[in-house]
Amino acid sequence: MFNRLVALFSAFSVVTLQSTTGYTQGDLAQDSPGSKQIKISYCVADKSKPPPMGTRNVLSAVGRLSHSGYLKKGVKFEAEFTDNPACLQKSGNGCFGESGAVFCNLDSLADLLERTAWIAASGSINAMRGITKNEGGLAFEDKIGWENASVFSEIRGNAKNRDDFAAQLIGVVEERDINAVDVVEAGEIVQALLQYDADLQSNINDFHSGIIMAYPVYEAASNYIVSFIFGHELAHAYEGCIFSQPSIIETSDRFTQILDTQRSGKFFGKNNLSLDEALAERCALRGVQHMDTEMVAYKNSKPDASVEKIMLTFGRRIAIDGAGIILTTNLGSDWSQATDWQSPGEDGLPTTSYNVKIEPGYLYYPLRMAMLAELLQQLEHSDQKFIKICDNTAKLFVMGLNVAIAHREDGKYSEGKFDHSGLAATFGSLVGPGVIDGWENGNWDSAISFACESKSKK
Ligand SMILES: [Zn+2]
Repeated sequence: MFNRLVALFSAFSVVTLQSTTGYTQGDLAQDSPGSKQIKISYCVADKSKPPPMGTRNVLSAVGRLSHSGYLKKGVKFEAEFTDNPACLQKSGNGCFGESGAVFCNLDSLADLLERTAWIAASGSINAMRGITKNEGGLAFEDKIGWENASVFSEIRGNAKNRDDFAAQLIGVVEERDINAVDVVEAGEIVQALLQYDADLQSNINDFHSGIIMAYPVYEAASNYIVSFIFGHELAHAYEGCIFSQPSIIETSDRFTQILDTQRSGKFFGKNNLSLDEALAERCALRGVQHMDTEMVAYKNSKPDASVEKIMLTFGRRIAIDGAGIILTTNLGSDWSQATDWQSPGEDGLPTTSYNVKIEPGYLYYPLRMAMLAELLQQLEHSDQKFIKICDNTAKLFVMGLNVAIAHREDGKYSEGKFDHSGLAATFGSLVGPGVIDGWENGNWDSAISFACESKSKK
């Protein structure tokens, strides 16, 4: 249950915490030199078993981060796979960075990437069938969502064989408003995609044809998610940011703007935000941008760069969903209750039994989500309106922000004293019209509020 939530993907150390008022814009300009060797421990439950599917994308993304920054400055990564309980104790369900070391729960990361694979597979089905959007680009529509993707991942992991997998899928689909044919097809694609992932020697053409479309999307999304997670922890390990070039959201000032919603206490409780955390986050975003630059260059080198470009667009969108899962929930959570939705209370806020964990000194998780979404949106040139926080991820985002509002020191969140319309001004570009309507006018309807496009009531 949710009270078992543990710290995710953040290094927590009392000695590094500084009060919000204790640092300035000048401090954010610091770029201290750091460790020359970083040990990365990939924690697994049982080292004698083969590494979990999805490991390839974790390792390749970390390798790319190394090549695009660390190796150039002479910083070497030393990696180990270990089932030493001390590793899992450090990593929890996520990752943890401290001076010279990063500990990451590889099983959890692989789980996360499988959920991402489901969304990539589901979204690619229309595109695979050659269905196009009005504007002429390929249609990409994820009809599963990460909640279902999580349930389906668990079924796949426990299924005895392929027939059992399909039968179990159809069993759960009946309770859900989704097309069984699409889900079974997505399941076949996921299975093929993960097998391809597990076998470096295999030829992609030997698998279900769906993975030719889904794999690049899955791979791009995995690169973004892993570089975001590791980029943050590696900054703690390096004790500085290896990437000196500011990211696009720093130069546009959006990073500071979003940071200030917490740092100033204007929107949310300050939560004693530490400088270390703000800097690590800024570095993570720089790492994501480096990863993006490399992927764009690679895609542009391919014979059909326009199709490759569309794959990257889908990857950016899915990365927001994947990061949303990890940033606002715990991978060990009870998924069936992860997004319980209740009508707004007397204060006009949608409420939930879902618990967004707050760690003193950290950025609120939905703000991390917003920063990543902002960066990916700005990196997207051809289909920017597609890169948003939508559907279940938007639900998590709104609820997560409400938790941050409720954390205000001045108590202004209660009795309708908090003006939600200010949220629309800051975060409106990242969400669909329904969320903006909710913030501005208090209209919330879980069936229509979170879609990316306008939806009318049925
Ligand atoms: Zn951290």
